Amino acid sequence: STILYNDQFMAREQGKVDMEDRGYQFGDGIYEALRVYNGEMFLLDLHMKRLNRSARELRLTLPYDTDHLVENLNKLIKDNEMNDGYVYFQITRGAIARKHRFPEKPISSVLTASVEATTQDEDLYPDGIKASLIDDIRWLRCDIKTLNLLGNVLANQEAFEKGSAEAILHRDGVVTEGSTCNVFIVKDGVLITHPANHFILNGITRLFVLQLAEQLGIPVEERTYTTDELLDADEAFITSTGVRVTPVVQIDEHPVGDGKPGAITSRLLDAFNHEIAQFIAK
Ligand code: PLP
Repeated sequence: STILYNDQFMAREQGKVDMEDRGYQFGDGIYEALRVYNGEMFLLDLHMKRLNRSARELRLTLPYDTDHLVENLNKLIKDNEMNDGYVYFQITRGAIARKHRFPEKPISSVLTASVEATTQDEDLYPDGIKASLIDDIRWLRCDIKTLNLLGNVLANQEAFEKGSAEAILHRDGVVTEGSTCNVFIVKDGVLITHPANHFILNGITRLFVLQLAEQLGIPVEERTYTTDELLDADEAFITSTGVRVTPVVQIDEHPVGDGKPGAITSRLLDAFNHEIAQFIAK
């Protein structure tokens, strides 16, 4: 396959990282992952806005502006003849002799991008998943989409070893988000999700689902909720670029609601799929 390395296109095998790249040594970088439908990037503007915010928060300079990046990503999709799948890209602060503080003289940041083809519905679980509650041990800037994902990696592995598809994280009994997704619950017809602050990544899918809920007239509360409220919820689901809206039907040994995907979850998933169908048709 073809990858993008800074402003150059090359074979995957040609893409080499410097051993002193700050992304490699410190996780000093940011990333985005987008869904491609019918050769077009979905919710592109929101992803680019979040990328620029992440860069600002880490005082990281992008190698070139977003318009040019979008041009390059579109070329990458075309060169790989990809219709359905993902685009992943990351930007590190660059390569220089190892020191924690920023380089004194500006160095070039390093951008790499690749695509991964999938079938339309390969990452979807409409019948729902089992999740496990895991301690959220991450830092206090989870709002930045950084390459530092060890807290997420360890939680995701722990959930996997418990036979679960996802980890639902909590800080002292307050549910934050999943290891790779945001988490919503439904109680008495109200959709509830953690507010977008430093404790969670403000998922693009989260924002899209909040918009769909408004269009459908489903009442929403962006507020914290406890693990007890989660276990006592009528419905629960997770959202991400990969899984869209996926019902959570079991949490460790507890069924959620009646153990089947809930009615509001299904309405949101239907609306989501309808939007994608329209996106593909246009
Ligand atoms: N939260 C975390 C920790 C994530 O890694 C992700 C994305 O993979 C999300 C939430 C969901 O974000 P998005 O909807 O933009 O994919």
